[in-house]
Amino acid sequence: RSKREGRNRYHFFSKAVDDAASARLQLEADMRRALAAGQFIVHYQPVVHGRTRDAVAVEALLRWDRAGQGLQSPAVFIPVAEESGLIVPMGHWVLRQACEQLRAWSGTALGGISVAVNVSPVQLAQADFVDTVADVLHATGVDGSRLEFEITESTLMQDPEATLEMLRRLKGLGVRIAIDDFGTGYSSLGHLKRFPVDTLKIDHTFVRDLEADADDRELVRAILAMARSLRLHVVAEGVETEAQAAILAAMECPAFQGYLFARPAGAAVTAAWLQDRAATLAR
Ligand code: C2E
Ligand code: MG
Ligand code: MG
Ligand code: MG
Repeated sequence: RSKREGRNRYHFFSKAVDDAASARLQLEADMRRALAAGQFIVHYQPVVHGRTRDAVAVEALLRWDRAGQGLQSPAVFIPVAEESGLIVPMGHWVLRQACEQLRAWSGTALGGISVAVNVSPVQLAQADFVDTVADVLHATGVDGSRLEFEITESTLMQDPEATLEMLRRLKGLGVRIAIDDFGTGYSSLGHLKRFPVDTLKIDHTFVRDLEADADDRELVRAILAMARSLRLHVVAEGVETEAQAAILAAMECPAFQGYLFARPAGAAVTAAWLQDRAATLAR
């Protein structure tokens, strides 16, 4: 192989890296502008009671209405927002929106609903995160007990001591803590007992094949049994079919979330869905 070929290869590689880096920088700059220009939107997805199928909560899910490119998935832009630190003001904005929405619903038939907000490990690592949350609750007049923060298992495990301290302080505001995507990480029984966790959200990958896969059924059954003995609330994520819901209901899974019930949608659409559901169930 000639030296020259090696050099070309290097140039090719370095150009690809440059392109990726500049695309990332572009994305970051666009996000920063979009945040200021109000191009982000919060969608809400209902969580329903496992037996009555009454709506008990909504999860706030961030969307970016990127000019000319349609709604962007958080899976694409959240990682870049985390690397750049932009997730801090962005997460603050989501929290504020969600609390303002709760406040707006408080005089209506939806007054009893709670909201779950996803929190990045980068936000939890900010020394002033608890103050930020306290300020938002105060400014919007929302009671902490109406708010649940969703964090992933990997967040718990990244810096367990600091996270434990942060979660304790958040609990002091009355908010609840959920472990998101439960079952995909490495948190042990010991951690679940030690951290002030209220809810487990069973990852959708365990729900998907419930009908066909006996191992998944046993796994979910085991998670539910463990949650019962630790007195944890459980939400099954990604419930798409009646068959999955029936299996989960037979196992007495406390709550469901998924396309079978409702997709994430803007506040007005979700409010209409919640009202419609309350009316239907009342009949
Ligand atoms: P997540 O918190 O686990 O949210 C659940 C995801 O599953 C959402 O994807 C939701 O739209 C999707 N989903 C709901 N029901 C079903 C179903 O029946 N089937 C399938 N296949 N999917 C379903 P989404 O909205 O694209 O969000 C992806 C992830 O982005 C979230 O996963 C969360 O980790 C993150 N995320 C979203 N909003 C925020 C935010 O405001 N802050 C932070 N830090 N992360 C966020
Ligand atoms: Mg979540
Ligand atoms: Mg999840
Ligand atoms: Mg997820």
